[in-house]
Amino acid sequence: MIPVRGYEGRRVAVLGLGAAGGAEALLWDDSPEARGKAEAAGFALTDLTRAGAFDGVSLLVTSPGIPHLYPAPNPVIARAWDAGVPVDNDIGLFFRSFATPAWDDFAVAPRVIAVTGSNGKSTTSALIHHILAETGTPTQLAGNIGRGVLDIEPATDGMVVVLELSSYQTDLARALTPDIAVFTNLSPDHLDRHAGMGGYFAAKRRLFAEGGPDRAVVGVDEDEGRYLANQMGEGPGDDRVIRVSAGRKLDGPGWAVFARKGFLAEWRKGRQVASIDLRGIVGLPGAHNHQNACAAYAATRALGLPPKGIEAALRSFEGLPHRSQRVGERGGVTFVNDSKATNVDSAAKALQAFPRIRWIAGGLGKEGGIGALKPHLGSVVKAYLIGHSARDFALQLGDTPHEICETMARAVARAAAEAEPGDTVLLAPAAASFDQYPNFEKRGEDFVAEVAKVLG
Ligand code: ADP
Repeated sequence: MIPVRGYEGRRVAVLGLGAAGGAEALLWDDSPEARGKAEAAGFALTDLTRAGAFDGVSLLVTSPGIPHLYPAPNPVIARAWDAGVPVDNDIGLFFRSFATPAWDDFAVAPRVIAVTGSNGKSTTSALIHHILAETGTPTQLAGNIGRGVLDIEPATDGMVVVLELSSYQTDLARALTPDIAVFTNLSPDHLDRHAGMGGYFAAKRRLFAEGGPDRAVVGVDEDEGRYLANQMGEGPGDDRVIRVSAGRKLDGPGWAVFARKGFLAEWRKGRQVASIDLRGIVGLPGAHNHQNACAAYAATRALGLPPKGIEAALRSFEGLPHRSQRVGERGGVTFVNDSKATNVDSAAKALQAFPRIRWIAGGLGKEGGIGALKPHLGSVVKAYLIGHSARDFALQLGDTPHEICETMARAVARAAAEAEPGDTVLLAPAAASFDQYPNFEKRGEDFVAEVAKVLG
C-alpha cells in the first residue's frame, strides 16, 4: 500500500469506492448493488447526493468509470464543485504520495514510467515491466492494468514503477509527474467522455505537461504525436524526446526508435546505434507489436539500459493474455487469441500480423460495421463467424470465403479441421463479447479451451 499523504485526519469523500489512507473516508456509490455489497462487507456509507454532504470535506476521490464532465458530470461531482471541494483520483493521490523522506538514503531515486495512448498501453506497460525485471531492476506494474496504483508496495532503492494510464485517469488526476512519459498512438475512442477527439487528445497530453517528464517517448505516426513531440523538444537535437514510429525511418538529428520490415532501429544524432530483428519474436507478432516493442525499448533505453539486455528481454516476452497471444500449435498451424480486438481498429492490426489467417470473428458488432476491414482481408483464407453479428458480418465480407458457425466451439473445430500448415487460426472478433460472454477475457478463455480440445 502507498499511504496517501496530505489528508491525515481530514475528511475525504470517495465516489466509486476507492481508498484514501489515514483519512476519515465518506464512501458512496451511485449503484444500489455496489452499495449493498459494501454494506455487507461492513463499510458504512454516506449519501453524497444529499444537501450539505460536502460540509467539512477536504477532497472527493472518484473512480475512472464515473463521468466527471462529459457527456454530463456525475451529480455528486457537480455538488463537490459547488462546495469548492477539489476532485481527484487515485493517480493524483499516488503522485502526491509516492516520494517519501526515506528516499534520501537511497543510492538511486525511484522513478515512474507512465504509459498512455489509444492502443497498446497494456502490452507496452507489461513489456517495459518485463524488460526491467529481466535486467535486474526492481519494478512494479500498476494502473489500468489490474493493480490499483495505491495498492503497490512502497518503493525500494532504484525501483521503477510502470503505470498504464487511461485517458479517463489522466484527464482528472491533479498531479501527474512521471519521470518518463510514453504516448503509444492515437485513434478515436471514448469520444463521448471527452466531447470529441480534441478532448480525448487533451486528456492524454496532460501526462506531458510542459516542464513535466524528464523524457518523453512519443509515437509520431499520427499528427497529434508529431505535434506533441515538437512541443516537448527545444530543438531538432533535443534528446529529452524520443520519437517512435512503426513504419517511418526517423534518421534526423534527434533520438528515435522505429521499426520497419520487422527490424527495430535506434538512431541518435543522425546515426544508427542499435538494431534488433523482431521478426522471430513469438510474443510480439505484427507491426502493432513492433510499435509496442519500440516504445518499450525507448523507455528502457531512456533509463540507461543497454540494447543487448533489452533485446534478450524482448525475446523472452510471452505476450499478455487475449492480445495476439499464441495459445497452441500443431502441424504448422498456429492458434492465436486476440479476444481484446473488440473494435475494427485492433482487429485490422491483428489481420496484418499473420500471412494466412483462418479468422474467427463476430459478437456484438459495433456501429459502422466491419467495412473498414476490407483492405485487410487479403490475408484471410476464410472467416468463421460467431455471435449476434455473424450474419451481418457475412454480408460485409463480399468475396472472402466464410461460414456461419454461431458458437466458438464450432468455429474452432471447423477452422482447425480446414487449416493447412502455415495457417494461423486467429480469434480477433472486431466486436464486443457481451452477446455470448460476460467480457472479452471469458471469450478468450473459451477460445483457449476449445483449442485445447481440438489439439487433444
Ligand atoms: P490497450 O491497453 O491500450 O487497450 P492492449 O495492449 O491491451 O492495449 O491491446 C488492445 C488491442 O489492441 C489488442 O487487440 C491488441 O492486439 C491491439 N494492439 C496492441 N498494440 C497495438 C498497437 N500498438 N496499435 C494498435 N493495436 C494494438
